[in-house]
Amino acid sequence: MQCLNYIDGRWVPARSGAVMESRNPADWRELVATAPQSDAADVDAAVAAARRAYRSWRLVPAPVRAESVRRIGELLLERKAELAQLMTREMGKPLEETRGDVQEGIDCAFYYAGEGRRLFGQTTPSELGNKFAMTVRVPIGVCGLITPWNFPIAIPCWKSLPALVCGNAIAFKPARDTPACATLLTQIFEAAGLPAGVVNLVHGTGEAVGRALAEHPGIDLISLTGSSQTGAEVGATCGRTHKRVCLEMGGKNAQIVMEDADLDLALEGALWGAFGTTGQRCTATSRLILHRDIKAEFVSKLIELTGNLRLGSGLDPQTDVGPLINQAQRDRVIRYLDIARDEGAKLAIGGEVAREDDLQYGCFFQPTILDGVTPDMRVAREEIFGPVVSAIAVDSFDRAIQVLNDTPYGLSSSVYTRDVNRAFQAMRDLEAGITYINGPTIGAEVHLPFGGVKQTGNGHREAGSAALDVFSDWKTVYVDFSGQLQRAQIDNR
Ligand code: NAD
Repeated sequence: MQCLNYIDGRWVPARSGAVMESRNPADWRELVATAPQSDAADVDAAVAAARRAYRSWRLVPAPVRAESVRRIGELLLERKAELAQLMTREMGKPLEETRGDVQEGIDCAFYYAGEGRRLFGQTTPSELGNKFAMTVRVPIGVCGLITPWNFPIAIPCWKSLPALVCGNAIAFKPARDTPACATLLTQIFEAAGLPAGVVNLVHGTGEAVGRALAEHPGIDLISLTGSSQTGAEVGATCGRTHKRVCLEMGGKNAQIVMEDADLDLALEGALWGAFGTTGQRCTATSRLILHRDIKAEFVSKLIELTGNLRLGSGLDPQTDVGPLINQAQRDRVIRYLDIARDEGAKLAIGGEVAREDDLQYGCFFQPTILDGVTPDMRVAREEIFGPVVSAIAVDSFDRAIQVLNDTPYGLSSSVYTRDVNRAFQAMRDLEAGITYINGPTIGAEVHLPFGGVKQTGNGHREAGSAALDVFSDWKTVYVDFSGQLQRAQIDNR
């Protein structure tokens, strides 16, 4: 597939003519797509087109804008199987998961299509007579959307669909590793009848295109999902250039299992949370905080279940765990395994690059459990973003909560217990944007707010009605129908 940028309603190459490749991480021999390797000149063109389109798009009634969003949902549904196939080839996760990724985009479209007829503001009494007071939502302007490769349809939909319903124009920079998915999604935006310039797609690297978007004076808002390191840089740039910025960043999510838990349920949750999407979800379980009374039994059963997981191409229905996204990410996992060994963690299972048969052609790594991990070790504190989970023993529930909270991140958290008092204490005391009781750390639903605290986020939420607060501004309107000057903020009682 030959991908192009989409600027002002036309499919165009990078102005420089430079091209980059997207290869199948399960088999590098397969070239999935080529895409423009754009730079600041392409960003300039995209932002100029978006600024022009914004002038009229913001005046289209929200219920009419929402009809385009509904159409996007219908087209995603029609092309779901094709999109899922392409996504599995481009970023590796099994078909069941890539179908789920597309379904999230569909759910998101239908949810925000409904918002077109809500976008509620408030009316409230004025303190003065013959005066009316209300709030209305207004769009922000041109939004730069910078997205990762791990949910290449869902995350761009989480950002673009509420942005469109709210009346914004968009410059979209997808991850360097998933240009083909972004191209199909943008084709769908085009087919849904969005006016030229309302959505613009610029392929390329973070260093060139992402930075240029964050710096660009024609951009009013940046919404980024990526690592905390990238978020820190983009946040600083946006602060300096006076942009709004919504950051969804890294995680170091943990599952607590208490001695009173349903262990089989907790095991299933741990296996899925740690190794689903090859551990490459921002909400993946990377720490298991286990009560000492059940720890040995839990780890030994988890080793057994992990040993049965089948690695392979996500196109094979037998596959449980697909590849890592690229060589750099596999090198990072290898580095963390070295760190774990140096720090004294015990390798319970896995720990090696998987090279058997056809796996040698892809970025595979064995699902790995580290035992005897202590909360101060780097593997217990830093995001690895791979199929590696660390088991940490604790003696009490209070200590479990303390250990879970003892990281710079705060995205997802989970507790398995049958004790309702502990469940409510966890809901109150865990420092995370998301808490699951008796469920794994992964599994967001689009109508609920998504995001984290501490170094995971900067105070915003994606999805649900919370996303409307990112992509619209409040305007407060006073209508004085008294026909005379009425002075507020004066002590006239
Ligand atoms: P990344 O930070 O490397 O890249 C994310 C996006 O930012 C990409 O489009 C990239 O090109 C761009 N980018 C990179 N450097 C940039 C820069 N200096 N300026 C502007 N843009 C730049 O992350 P990734 O490897 O694509 O994704 C994995 C990370 O994303 C993990 O840390 C994961 O936890 C996080 N993530 C978070 C969430 C969440 O909702 N909190 C969801 C998915 C992934």
